[in-house]
Amino acid sequence: MTVSPDPAFLWFNGQIVPWEQATLHATHTIWSSIQTVFEGVRAYWNAEEETMHIFRLEEHLRRLKQSMRLVRMDSPYDPMALVTDLPLLLQRNGVREDTYIRIVAFPSERRMASRGDEEVLNMLADTAPYPSYLDRDRCLHLMISSYTRISEMVMPPRVKSMSNYRNGDLAMREAKLAGYDGAILLNRLGEISECTWSNLFIVRDGALITPDHTSDILEGITRDVLLGLARERLGIPVQERRLARTELYLADEAFQCGTAAEILPIGSIDRYTLGDGGIGPITRQLRDLFRAIVYGRDEATSDWLLSVHVPGHIPALLGVS
Ligand code: PMP
Repeated sequence: MTVSPDPAFLWFNGQIVPWEQATLHATHTIWSSIQTVFEGVRAYWNAEEETMHIFRLEEHLRRLKQSMRLVRMDSPYDPMALVTDLPLLLQRNGVREDTYIRIVAFPSERRMASRGDEEVLNMLADTAPYPSYLDRDRCLHLMISSYTRISEMVMPPRVKSMSNYRNGDLAMREAKLAGYDGAILLNRLGEISECTWSNLFIVRDGALITPDHTSDILEGITRDVLLGLARERLGIPVQERRLARTELYLADEAFQCGTAAEILPIGSIDRYTLGDGGIGPITRQLRDLFRAIVYGRDEATSDWLLSVHVPGHIPALLGVS
């Protein structure tokens, strides 16, 4: 039997409440995933400092607001309130391990959720243990999917929404059935877009290359961080541009990146081995720097973290509304 990962408390419609109290009627949830937008955020546990470091929270909250705007969702709750409330939630749950924080905005209505102004909007944030992969060298074997990435002509790829996830989900199922670890999706023009639920980088002749913002990608926060680190901290030339399928097969290195994925090295694509099939030197260099940053061991980027002390013995009085 597995231990339930449900936290003792979560944030629901503006308040930290016991997990059992965040309820809706089942008949009010059926249509809600059509409209649901969300964010996944990671928080890392630094045991020496007894501190949880929430990574790039404000960027995630800004993207949530952007997703809400693009799907025309009005909210009585300001996601920015979570800058204050999430640290309290982590303390309240006594979280002392690497963790995934979900932040979800969704309507609840008995009727189909496309009427806009009649919907009842809910916002929820919860936490679940989620170990980091940053120490794992195992490389992924990916295929180019037969599904193409959604385009602006279908539904906006820039939105992080549950509906959009069906696209990556089908690609992932196809890849797993074919014996791969995951998939890369082409866009409507047959160029590279991204991986299932993560962005893609390749290294070719010393340059770090990733599809640009018009390649139907989700504008990944990790992608943006890595571009900046490569350019400004590691002196690696970067290119954001349209990327052709066969450039992948000729790459020296490649990796997936995202909040959940972090940095996952790719060993082969469509059974073309990349480099020597193991994690490449530039991928490793970026991953080492990224690991130092997320655990709060890089002074220059300490303002990328929202840090909260979670002592072993929690003081009795912590602000719970
Ligand atoms: N693309 C998709 C479709 C995703 O769901 C994600 C995960 N949020 C990413 C890319 C990577 O984005 P981020 O680095 O902001 O997590």
